[in-house]
Amino acid sequence: MQPDFYQHFQPGEHLFKQGEIGDSAYIIEKGRIEIYIEKAEKNITIATLAEGELLGEMAIIDESPRNASAVALEPTDVIVIPLQHMQQKIEYSDPTVRFILKVIMMRYRDIYARLMHVLEGVVPNASSYQAVSETTSDKIKNIMQQYLEMQDRILTAVNTAVPLNDNNLDQTDLSKTKRLLSIEKNLQRALTEEQFVNYYQPIVDLRSGQICGCEALVRWQHPQQGLLTPEYFIPHCENSGMIIDLGYLITRQTCEFQQTVADRFNPDFFASINLSIKQFDDETLIPRLIDIVDEHASAPARIKFEITESLLMGNPEQAHTALNELKQHGVKLVIDDFGTGYSSLSYLHRFPFDFMKIDQSFVNTMLHNKKSKTIVKSLVDLGHNLGMQLIAEGIESQYEEQLIKDYQVELGQGYFYGTPLTAEQFQKLLK
Ligand code: C2E
Ligand code: CA
Ligand code: CA
Repeated sequence: MQPDFYQHFQPGEHLFKQGEIGDSAYIIEKGRIEIYIEKAEKNITIATLAEGELLGEMAIIDESPRNASAVALEPTDVIVIPLQHMQQKIEYSDPTVRFILKVIMMRYRDIYARLMHVLEGVVPNASSYQAVSETTSDKIKNIMQQYLEMQDRILTAVNTAVPLNDNNLDQTDLSKTKRLLSIEKNLQRALTEEQFVNYYQPIVDLRSGQICGCEALVRWQHPQQGLLTPEYFIPHCENSGMIIDLGYLITRQTCEFQQTVADRFNPDFFASINLSIKQFDDETLIPRLIDIVDEHASAPARIKFEITESLLMGNPEQAHTALNELKQHGVKLVIDDFGTGYSSLSYLHRFPFDFMKIDQSFVNTMLHNKKSKTIVKSLVDLGHNLGMQLIAEGIESQYEEQLIKDYQVELGQGYFYGTPLTAEQFQKLLK
């Protein structure tokens, strides 16, 4: 049997384009690849794939046209599996092949779900979004129907395959793929089984000392591992594109919580929601967020979206349009973790932020580090001079609170006032 071979792609270089006839599948050795579809003359990212992941697997079945394009995001090495090799391999049906076939089926389901999501996400009553034409959506639905039929064919193939040479399974090549897939699978299950829950951390008005709002911080209630913080799963959600669905869930939960607290305790109560850069790959993001806010929050002005600098850097034009649309709808915008990234002052006046959030790394080192104090003071002045209000994050002691108050910061957040709490605990605290 002929061996597969390696190929290198430069950033921006295509592995294949939508509509081309597929002749190979690929496993990513190193680097990152974006998969996108062209719809209504726009490119919509459906996934970003990283090391160990498989793509272009359509070619394993037959030479049908590519239904999406694949482009390298960074210098990327791939193992190329040509169609003929695959057909031979299927004939001999070793465990590797069976494994890959299983991957394909999962992937098809996944693509199908995401495409459907994009289609259903077309919000007819949102003026800012141009609906996909009916013929385009019919076409996509057709493609997806073919996928489903193909799935059945593969399933039959896998079920009838006989393991010939189990020893041939290349563990190193495939273990990474398996690991990534199992993480993605678990995340997908977590999403459908609603294992993600929002915790809410109090935000205090420093003048009155009263809780005036909260930041939503998502947690994964893992059935075996217990409560997991975002660092363990948000990166995977971003890489797999799942952050898009999760983001809507978080937004809806938060808006509902905001409305409840506003009704029961304080009509001015606000809630702040973190947005990830990957969510902006979804063209329907802004109209859908607006719809969720309209439907579930007490008023758009009581919802803040927190955005980091990296998000602005990635695609300033796109970010500019999106943020302005949100802002026009009345929600508030926060520049998060300001000063920790590749800060560029030019962002601050170009983008319509209402609040600047000072990162905890500055705030909770003020006691021992004079430079941190200077940085905090300078950030506060900068924010105020640009017409923004300030939020200081990571206040853990009275000393820090006092300094922050001396600097005329409006809002404070940190363990000194409260850790992130469940919706129930938060309401108890308010009582
Ligand atoms: P972040 O936006 O900077 O959130 C603040 C983090 O600081 C939270 O960690 C919070 O629990 C922690 N924190 C709050 N007060 C204190 C304090 O006084 N001292 C210390 N040492 N830490 C404090 P968490 O919940 O682990 O979240 C980590 C990051 O994950 C967040 O950083 C945010 O970037 C991301 N994240 C959290 N929830 C979401 C979400 O719903 N969507 C997205 N896209 N990202 C989220
Ligand atoms: Ca935040
Ligand atoms: Ca932070």
